[in-house]
Amino acid sequence: MVSNVTPIEPQDLAVNDAEPMFDISVIGAGPTGLFAAFYAGLRGASVQVIDSLEEPGGALTAIYPEKYIYDVIGYPKVLAKDFVAACVEQAMRSNPTIHLNEQVQELLPQADGTFLLKTSTSVRRSRSVVIAAGVGAFEPTRLTAPGVAELEGSGVHYFAKRVEDFRDRKVVIVGGGDSAVDWAVTLEPVAESVKVIHRSKFRAHEATVDELERSTVELFYPKCEVIEVRAGDHGRIASLTFKNGDGEHADLEVDELICAIGFKADPGPMRSWGFELARNQIVVDKITMETNIPGVFGAGDIVSYPAKFKLIANGAAEAVTAVNHAVTYVNPDARLDPGHSTTIMEKRAKEAAAT
Ligand SMILES: Cc1cc2nc3c(=O)[nH]c(=O)nc-3n(C[C@H](O)[C@H](O)[C@H](O)COP(=O)(O)OP(=O)(O)OC[C@H]3O[C@@H](n4cnc5c(N)ncnc54)[C@H](O)[C@@H]3O)c2cc1C
Repeated sequence: MVSNVTPIEPQDLAVNDAEPMFDISVIGAGPTGLFAAFYAGLRGASVQVIDSLEEPGGALTAIYPEKYIYDVIGYPKVLAKDFVAACVEQAMRSNPTIHLNEQVQELLPQADGTFLLKTSTSVRRSRSVVIAAGVGAFEPTRLTAPGVAELEGSGVHYFAKRVEDFRDRKVVIVGGGDSAVDWAVTLEPVAESVKVIHRSKFRAHEATVDELERSTVELFYPKCEVIEVRAGDHGRIASLTFKNGDGEHADLEVDELICAIGFKADPGPMRSWGFELARNQIVVDKITMETNIPGVFGAGDIVSYPAKFKLIANGAAEAVTAVNHAVTYVNPDARLDPGHSTTIMEKRAKEAAAT
């Protein structure tokens, strides 16, 4: 694979002299990036992780923290937020440097084979890079009805996180995908009332839609649309008007409006980094997880190769491949296959005891 990025010399960028050089920089602290960080440490590589969100966990933290996951290895059933906590604990075994609230904006390959990562706050250095950036920067699709934009943060939510925030509240959810239906079912036992307004048929998982239809959640669909949102005296959302398929208008009282009408998947700044892209995903070599830029690897939802599955389990396996190849990029004499963690850790314990 051939890079089509023009190297930029360090003198073109203000790099802080104290800025450390890491063996591996992982872009993205979702489940894939966190596992990559752990695995880098297992390989004895120094590692930094950079994420634009304020918390680790990627999609699990941002979109579905209170949803159960059933198909990650070792957990018959686990809440996404609990799984993230376990991933963070595992990653921390490798003592990574973690930079949150920091977006990587430019990736600059250097003439000596290393990289500068220009971020929103700094210029970081690295000998290799693993991109685990999921769908890129998360951007929820905004509801455009009058009043909604003004009340964002005052009762209008795009990222619902804690169930407790909705206890005893009159909740209205807009949307009919997984996220909308999951939140409706999850909040029903906790909220004072839950109502769902949706434009077409429910597109969520069949079992969850069945659960929704058996619940006390009041459903307004299909062809129902919010047309106006209004604040009360307290300045927060208080009521809304929606119309149905016959064009009739109705008003609802509302304390919390959750807009779950989807997210835009956009690799954002990564578009201009010189990667070969396929439908907004970075094309990688399926054997090595290397991108078309030597020394830059990919793993998780961001990558594209034939028969790719966008699942947490697959991202973890790709992270292992990406890190092992990153290690041999940094040190061509290193073994590609380090063996099992059981053996590696046993050997390390013996070496530590001997010194
Ligand atoms: C509602 C829902 C339910 C799901 N259920 C399951 C399930 O049951 N089982 C399953 O296996 N999968 C499930 N998935 C899919 C799973 O969430 C993804 O496969 C997984 O999150 C991918 O992990 P990732 O680390 O590759 O990417 P993400 O989780 O998307 O994390 C990527 C991170 O990269 C950061 N980032 C992006 N660009 C930059 C940048 N330029 N600079 C800095 N940081 C950046 C983002 O902020 C983000 O934190 C579900 C997805 C959704 C939406």
